[in-house]
Amino acid sequence: MSNEREKLLEIKDLKKHFKLDRKNVLKAVDGITFDIYKGETFGLVGESGCGKSTAGRAIMRLYSATEGKIEFGGEDVHQAKSKKMLKEFNRSMQMIFQDPYASLNPRMTIKDIIAEGIDIHALIQSPKERTARINQLLEIVGLNKDHGNRYPHEFSGGQRQRIGIARALAVSPEFIVADEPISALDVSIQAQVVNLLKRLQREHGLTYLFIAHDLSMVKHISDRVGVMYLGKMAEIAKSDELYHEPLHPYTQALISAIPIANPRIERSRERIILEGDVPSPVNPPSGCSFRTRCPLAMDVCAKVEPTWQEYKEEHWVACHVYDENYNAEHKARENQKVERIHV
Ligand code: SF4
Repeated sequence: MSNEREKLLEIKDLKKHFKLDRKNVLKAVDGITFDIYKGETFGLVGESGCGKSTAGRAIMRLYSATEGKIEFGGEDVHQAKSKKMLKEFNRSMQMIFQDPYASLNPRMTIKDIIAEGIDIHALIQSPKERTARINQLLEIVGLNKDHGNRYPHEFSGGQRQRIGIARALAVSPEFIVADEPISALDVSIQAQVVNLLKRLQREHGLTYLFIAHDLSMVKHISDRVGVMYLGKMAEIAKSDELYHEPLHPYTQALISAIPIANPRIERSRERIILEGDVPSPVNPPSGCSFRTRCPLAMDVCAKVEPTWQEYKEEHWVACHVYDENYNAEHKARENQKVERIHV
């Protein structure tokens, strides 16, 4: 991916903290910076509670940002200059949710659910045009016009997700946040929904932020992937590079956990088992937030937070192992290991 590609979203040092009481603050997102290019799929992964969904919701303005900036097409989404611009953000940025049933009003027919955005934004004037557009959207997502008169409970999980996608598409958005859109679906249905999203991206020039905890699924749909841990970004790289040359010890552990289809290779797969649980975002560790579980942790990791650096072209990482100022300790330890092997 070239740097000359047009940036659609710029997320700069985004923080979203929740004040729990007078003393405790939950740092759900704690200073993440990344760009999303027009027409790409950016996968955002990490264990549950790492802040990926909160980041998606802050980008969609469902949460206000505690600090930092989110720019869409060069405009700050949290500081819209006019009502017109706010409306434009609401139209251009749409969201698909993890639980399609909870996000569909059970008392509304499918046609009214799909047309809600069309009506709010007054995109179509005549009832005839409105019906034609609803039917077209149903067809685009693989449903038929008879489905329009039914209610959400009459559909399977996969069909409900298709309805959610049709609703998002109705207002012709440029950007869609897909927040774990397939986690609640059967494996066979997951592939169908992913293929539908990919086809729609090609046909409508969409840009996606695809949030998931499952690295193996993100790999297939994403151009680039960002890995989050405890509210911070650990690593970002092109999808292939991240899978074949992960830099951050956390990414290495996540990738080592992905099962391999070939049983012979699967048997010899070396898994990196992470010790302990993810610490609380209310009281994160000092220095590097991953240090309590990191197999490579050094003394400096408890004292100094690693900087977010572009270690290779378009490959960003936050880890002292790749920091010239601090990696002497890591190299010395690796040399000792080599000497021990040769003795
Ligand atoms: Fe591990 Fe230290 Fe790198 Fe953090 S900075 S990932 S603790 S080696």
